[in-house]
Amino acid sequence: MENKNPLQEIIDKIMNWSRINSPWAIHFNSGSCNGCDIEILATLTPRYDVERFGIKLQGSPRHADVLIATGPVTLQAKDRLIRVYEQMPSPKFVIAVGSCALSGGVFDGCYNVVGDLSKVIPVNVYIPGCPPRPEAIIFGVVQLLESLKLGKVPEMVEVAPPELVSEELGGQQ
Ligand code: SF4
Repeated sequence: MENKNPLQEIIDKIMNWSRINSPWAIHFNSGSCNGCDIEILATLTPRYDVERFGIKLQGSPRHADVLIATGPVTLQAKDRLIRVYEQMPSPKFVIAVGSCALSGGVFDGCYNVVGDLSKVIPVNVYIPGCPPRPEAIIFGVVQLLESLKLGKVPEMVEVAPPELVSEELGGQQ
């Protein structure tokens, strides 16, 4: 087991505490129809107001802990998505929002689509729905933060409960 410098250990603990209490996120649309993106924006509006939990949207991947991605990955967006992911400092986490990010959804098999998000970058949390409700998106972020509180980098798939998936659209996944 690696022996850490005690000072480094304290710095790591402070950084992890800061990350859990105020994760900074960047949003990337790699080919979505914009439905999921509208729901992400809704989480930032006063009705849901995720900033009260310290979650802040960033303009630069260099300042972001979490990549919130929507849509399947198109051929045009693939390299940009990889570049954004690589520019984020470690440790970094990816949340795939919506059925298209999970499986390609309605765009699966299109001539210009590479596939779902996990075909291009590693994904930590999946949030199903077409589109998922803002509550489901917040739930997914909380799942990620809960895993980090336990001191582990989530490598598993976390899925929002079905009752949080869009009811208006018949809870499609
Ligand atoms: S999951 Fe639905 S709303 Fe989201 S990008 Fe795909 S088609 Fe659009």
